[in-house]
Amino acid sequence: MTGEHQPEVVVVVHPRRRFDGFISSARKLGCRVVVIPREDESSDWDLGEHSANVEIAHWSGPIGGTEFVEFLSDVIGRFRASGIFGMHEASLPAVSRAAAMHQLPGLPVRVISRLRDKGAMRSALARSGLPSPRYCSGPAGEALLAEAKSLDLPVVVKPSNGFSSTGVELVINHDELAHAIVRSAAAMTDLGPSTEVVVEEFIAGPEFAVEAMTFAGASRILSIGYKGQPQGPFFEESIYQIPSGLDLKSENDIRRVVLEAHRALDIDSGPTHTELRLDADGTPHILEIGARIGGSGVSAALVSAATGIDFFAEVLAAATGRRPSVFDHETTSVVQAAGNYIVPCRGSGVIQEIRGLDLVSQRSAVLDVVQMMWPGEVILPYPAFSGYPAFVLSAHADLGELRDFHQQLDADISVVYA
Ligand code: ADP
Ligand code: CA
Repeated sequence: MTGEHQPEVVVVVHPRRRFDGFISSARKLGCRVVVIPREDESSDWDLGEHSANVEIAHWSGPIGGTEFVEFLSDVIGRFRASGIFGMHEASLPAVSRAAAMHQLPGLPVRVISRLRDKGAMRSALARSGLPSPRYCSGPAGEALLAEAKSLDLPVVVKPSNGFSSTGVELVINHDELAHAIVRSAAAMTDLGPSTEVVVEEFIAGPEFAVEAMTFAGASRILSIGYKGQPQGPFFEESIYQIPSGLDLKSENDIRRVVLEAHRALDIDSGPTHTELRLDADGTPHILEIGARIGGSGVSAALVSAATGIDFFAEVLAAATGRRPSVFDHETTSVVQAAGNYIVPCRGSGVIQEIRGLDLVSQRSAVLDVVQMMWPGEVILPYPAFSGYPAFVLSAHADLGELRDFHQQLDADISVVYA
């Protein structure tokens, strides 16, 4: 704990520069933040107007090893931080280790390790009796291939430690399976190649994302949103719409399954981003749970626009061991529709222009246009993932307007290749 008159300090690991809403949330709560920038954004964090409550501590180098954990631990000590949280899936293991070294709140290493291993997560969910696709997992090789051939096609093949859909692909016949497993095992992330692979039966139904907050073992669902119905072969993200458009019964089924999954995975504190699909009977099957705010902060912007809840403030509070304010109320409710539209690549090559973004950014419904790729940069053909061209975040009176808006963006925005 800091001295009586010192504001509390929270370390925020790997936020995206363009989703820095935690800075104003921290100011509102009267605390300071120490930002550890992502390596590729290290030069973007000039302090400017925020300098009063923000410090920056740069790390360059691998984030999967003990050096990064020691760096985080050193930052916690140097700034006398009373909390730390990660905004990027790849940094969660190091954040959890550093927090444990200082007895700071957060999920234990054992829980984070299981969430970072899709095979282990699947088995924990299935053991608890939660609806799961049939699956197998293990090192890429003959044994896994043989087991995978006993599953019903199509199947999804993915690296066990992946994120951002890297190395995730749909396989529709057994002849392709061996190659897909090898490709998945070799898919490179910030944490290195996975080597272990999960193969699971494909659930063709619509996909939903659930944002939740947990404190002292109790969870609150903040929002349920529709994520489209991607059919592969690769699973790049497209839309996110809150509210979900589902009827009350389906939403309640989702709530129940998500809350049970939190218990099954021993998630007793902090934010979560859950992805799930409905099968042909409408039963929710969890795809995965991430112990963080989703989409590098997109989820905080959408939850805030749709429900009025300051998700970042909730997470900052929980990170310092304080009860988040969503627990003051029995329920949360959607007051307007909010969505994110990810500009599709629809091709590959050198970007000449992302046409239509300027005009779209002037629409009154638009909260933010976040451009992430620029003219001159190269978009590689799938399955390579080069990044998303841009996000369009917007708020509307109701879901109908949001859907119409997203449909309009399909026509209005395009990536033009040289
Ligand atoms: P990542 O951690 O890389 O995001 P996911 O397991 O979330 O990996 O898979 C990425 C996407 O692939 C999901 O959002 C979903 O669209 C699709 N997907 C993954 N597994 C399945 C499955 N069993 N059935 C249907 N779609 C799936
Ligand atoms: Ca995912």
